[in-house]
Amino acid sequence: MDIQDIQTLIRDIPDFPKPGIVFRDITTLLKHPEGFRSTIDLLAQRCGELSPDYILGMESRGFIFGTAVAYQLNCGFIPVRKPKKLPAPVYQQSYDLEYGQDQLEMHQDALKEGDRLVVVDDLIATGGTAQATAKLVEQAGAILAGFVFVIELEALEGRKNLPDVPISSLIQY
Ligand code: IMP
Repeated sequence: MDIQDIQTLIRDIPDFPKPGIVFRDITTLLKHPEGFRSTIDLLAQRCGELSPDYILGMESRGFIFGTAVAYQLNCGFIPVRKPKKLPAPVYQQSYDLEYGQDQLEMHQDALKEGDRLVVVDDLIATGGTAQATAKLVEQAGAILAGFVFVIELEALEGRKNLPDVPISSLIQY
């Protein structure tokens, strides 16, 4: 399947999670065997061009795509999680939500200085989640080779909040 075909498998849900928001629902893409496989193939191709040792994925939809990409590229996978989920010592990073703040965590021994990684997530909106992840990578002293997203909401200009590394998305709205 090409990118246009994949886009037809993403479902729009109006007024979720609140009035005025159109939620891009990828569950309809995930359940389509050829659509899911083609999405992973395309993500893996783009990630592979950045020669990572590791793929980093954010809880929870970043795990779905990131682990499959890591498997395909023969890379390790590193989970970035919501607070209090990881058992060993963590780096923490706060980020702003529309109302309030949230935090992401990564194990301190997940990456060492000089490790090279690519961040994978389902969607970039404001870029807050991806920016917080980049800061976790910075705390670890690892090399952030780039970001690859399935979906980019271009009007929100999230990539402006990210470091100056290659940023790629398969589908733009
Ligand atoms: P950001 O931090 O504003 O860039 O939001 C990105 C995060 O919110 C990603 O981890 C997405 O999983 C989630 N997200 C925001 N909007 C949507 C959507 O329309 N569909 C699916 N996930 C979304």
